[in-house]
Amino acid sequence: MGPMLSLLKTWCADLADLVAPRVCLACADPLVTVEALCPRCREHLMPAVDAPMGVHVAWDHGGPLVRAIHRAKYGDDPAVAASLGALLAEAWRAPGGFVATRVVPVPLHPARLRQRGFNQSAELARALAQQLDAPLAWRAVERVRDTPSQTRLDRGARRENVRSVFRADGSLRGQRVVLVDDVVTTGATLSELRDAVLAAGATAVCATALARAPLLFTDGR
Ligand SMILES: [Zn+2]
Repeated sequence: MGPMLSLLKTWCADLADLVAPRVCLACADPLVTVEALCPRCREHLMPAVDAPMGVHVAWDHGGPLVRAIHRAKYGDDPAVAASLGALLAEAWRAPGGFVATRVVPVPLHPARLRQRGFNQSAELARALAQQLDAPLAWRAVERVRDTPSQTRLDRGARRENVRSVFRADGSLRGQRVVLVDDVVTTGATLSELRDAVLAAGATAVCATALARAPLLFTDGR
C-alpha cells in the first residue's frame, strides 16, 4: 500500500470513528471506551490453564475472544488488532523476573503482509512493548517462505511446515527477547522463531500469545 493510500485509509478510519460508534469485538454492543471488549464479554475471559512448553498464554481461547481475534485478523483495521493488545499486556507475567530488551512479533511473509495490510501479531505486540519499555523489533526477523495454513496439520506436520522459515538479523545479538503471537496451538511456530532468534545471538528468549487454540487433530493421525 502506498503512503497516500495508507494516509487516506487512516483518515477514513478516523472519520468512521467520528460517525460510527465503537463496538465490542465479540458481541458488537456499542462501547463508550476504546477497549476491545464490552464489560460483559470481558468478564467471560478465562485465564489460560495450560500452554505449550515455554509459552505464556494470556487467555483461554473460549467464547468472546475467539470472535474478537477472528474479527481483528480478517478485518481491515489494524487499530482493532491493536485494541486487543491491551488484553495481552494486562495478562503478561514475566517468567522468573525476565527483563525484556526487545519485543518481536511473529512475522508474516511479505506477500501475505501486502495482501492483508498489517500484521496482527505486530499490532498486538505494541501495547506490551510500551508496557515493558522495550522496542518493538518488527523488522528484526523475516519470514523467508510463505507457508500453508497450519489449521489442518497435526503436531509433527506443523513443525515440518515451519522448519527454517524465519531468519533473524544481527540487531538481536545480546538482547533479551519476548516473542509475541496471536494464537498458539502446539507452539511449533514460536519454537522455530525462538531458534532463529537464538541463532542470531539473542541471550534469552521467552514467548507469549494472546490465546491458546486446541489442536484439531490428535498426534499420530
Ligand atoms: Zn461484548
